[in-house]
Amino acid sequence: MGNQPMVVMSEESQRTSGDDAQSMNITAGKAVAEAARTTLGPKGMDKMLVGSTGGVVVTNDGVTILKEMEIEHPAANMIVEVAETQEEEVSDGTTSAVVIGGELLDQAEGLLDQDVHATSVEQGYRQAAEKAKQIVEEMAIDVDADDTEILQQIAATAMTGKGAEGAKDRLAELIVSAASSVAADGRVETDNIKVEKVVGGATEDSELIEGVVVDKERVNENMPYFAEEANVAVLDDALEVKETEVDTEVNVTDPDQLQQFLDQEEEQLREMVDTVADAGADVVFAQDGIDDMAQQFLADEGIIAVRRTKSSDAEQIARATGARIVGNVTDITVDDLGSAGSVSQQDVAGSQQIVVEDVEDAKSVTLLLRGGTEHVVDEVERAVEDSLGVVSVTLDEGKALPGGGAPETYLALELRDYADSVGGREQLAVEAFADALEIIPRTLAENGGLDPIDSLVELRSQHDAGNTVAGLNAYTGDAINMDTEGVYEPLRVKTQAIESATEAAVMLLRIDDVIAAGDLKGGQVDSDDDDDAGGPPAGGPGGGMGGGMGGMGGGMGGMM
Ligand code: ADP
Ligand code: MG
Repeated sequence: MGNQPMVVMSEESQRTSGDDAQSMNITAGKAVAEAARTTLGPKGMDKMLVGSTGGVVVTNDGVTILKEMEIEHPAANMIVEVAETQEEEVSDGTTSAVVIGGELLDQAEGLLDQDVHATSVEQGYRQAAEKAKQIVEEMAIDVDADDTEILQQIAATAMTGKGAEGAKDRLAELIVSAASSVAADGRVETDNIKVEKVVGGATEDSELIEGVVVDKERVNENMPYFAEEANVAVLDDALEVKETEVDTEVNVTDPDQLQQFLDQEEEQLREMVDTVADAGADVVFAQDGIDDMAQQFLADEGIIAVRRTKSSDAEQIARATGARIVGNVTDITVDDLGSAGSVSQQDVAGSQQIVVEDVEDAKSVTLLLRGGTEHVVDEVERAVEDSLGVVSVTLDEGKALPGGGAPETYLALELRDYADSVGGREQLAVEAFADALEIIPRTLAENGGLDPIDSLVELRSQHDAGNTVAGLNAYTGDAINMDTEGVYEPLRVKTQAIESATEAAVMLLRIDDVIAAGDLKGGQVDSDDDDDAGGPPAGGPGGGMGGGMGGMGGGMGGMM
């Protein structure tokens, strides 16, 4: 008994401690950033991601790439979360955030090698991030709802280098007018902008429809095609005879009885339609079915009815028209109805659809996106979602920054200055933070096939000379003025990226012990192991991460 080791963890668990843990986490985080890096900027490349079930996604969108890669390493996942937070908060800048996060880790690695303690790095990084946010806030310009030109430039910048690139000016116009028409008190409720995809036609021919477009036809040919000054009912119900919960058997012994039974059903349907008609509805959107006979009764009343309306459409119609969604058709009253200047069935993008227009309450618009194939429209949609997001963030915050690496270059200069006032080991960390930010202009240059050193030198000298709008022309490598070039981004995209990249890097650096119950998936950034050839571009250029937890010896048996 005497010398038996005390077992505190199960046989299967694995542990990595100290420097090993740190370097494993840093390597994993960097690998994720490396994978996303080649997509950054106007000349960033796309990635084709093949899922385990064979589904294909072609995209340039950072967060989409990282999500589709199904990354399993816990440290790598923290970097993926940076992209997800960025997407949720500001919808753009996901690649930038991840790339900065990876570079912060890379710079930290150098400091740790020089025996700077992780907590000093943490301190310095946090101070630098605070200072950086302050600097960009001072650098930002004001944008308000009337600055259509800048808003369109912001919208277009978010789409640069994406599948929507070719039509980005047209789309930017549509996006800004969509956002402006639903804006209330400077806030854009993006739920009021419905994005519908149409496969076929050129992206250039995408259009904006003021109103809600429902991809449905009226349920019965005898119904009118349009209603003006329409009262609109929205039902989360069917216009059908309710089936009883338990199966009942009706024994019909003579024909009269059958007739009676049918009459009774007809009576019930008639009653439903009467309630709707008495309430004054001209149009009914039902989320469930509408019985043939009820359809006929509705048509006789001159009511337009749509069945099996998607609940998201129903909600949007209700919001737009001010209707209340009624759960039980026989409860409907005039107070539940909404109103619209016009409801009509018309040809939209080559198919018959119902269009609800001229609404009083929350304004609602539908953006019809076109693209040659499904993959194209999907990628256009992702770009448009980013773009809608940045326009609403800008309207909300009222601030914008030049793009093209201008803020990062400026920040690097200012932070190096600031570092002198910090002193101590933290000073080194602030300088490292400044260096890390320059990964953005450097990567923009690299992805454009340009010499990153030349480009950086030119950018720095322009900023040194006081030109804070100097950014990179990703096509020529020259430093040019981003304001004349019309490359703008919302301030919050930058502050959020700095914040979440710093948080994630610091969190990873603080870890000196990784204890895993069971097998840690070898530190791979790969997704599906059973997918041999043709798998996703796992790990990208820097993907090989070595054995992760391997070589740690079997478990923790011998802790004394
Ligand atoms: P993210 O996911 O970070 O938004 P993007 O691929 O959209 O990644 O690239 C964003 C970067 O590209 C930003 O730094 C932005 O300023 C820059 N950028 C966008 N358009 C241009 C342009 N026309 N010229 C130079 N840089 C640009
Ligand atoms: Mg972007």
